[in-house]
Amino acid sequence: MTKEEYKKKCLEFEEAKMYDGRGEYNGYICQKCGYTVATLYKDKGVTPFIIKCPKCGEESIHRITSRTAPPEHPKTSKVKNWVRPTFEQFVKLSPATQEHVLNGGLVWEEELCQI
Ligand SMILES: [Zn+2]
Repeated sequence: MTKEEYKKKCLEFEEAKMYDGRGEYNGYICQKCGYTVATLYKDKGVTPFIIKCPKCGEESIHRITSRTAPPEHPKTSKVKNWVRPTFEQFVKLSPATQEHVLNGGLVWEEELCQI
């Protein structure tokens, strides 16, 4: 995929009739240990319903949707941003993650900083 094709694809997501959660906070609560991962949509796109708990590895389920940032709490993560990668970041992602992005999926900004 070329940069031009990728840009075109991103534009399609911007214009698509899909849920636009920009500015919205989501909380994922772990089934096992109760740890909450706080996230914020910075781009328009698709996010998973279930993620892996960073503390215990069990399933963490999307249960909270809010327009206000979560209060600081020892059992709540700092806010992680959902973003659409740039083309330069996209080409470095794993094939599975690239497929997710091409289906309108968003990824965590902090993970993009590590590639
Ligand atoms: Zn957990």
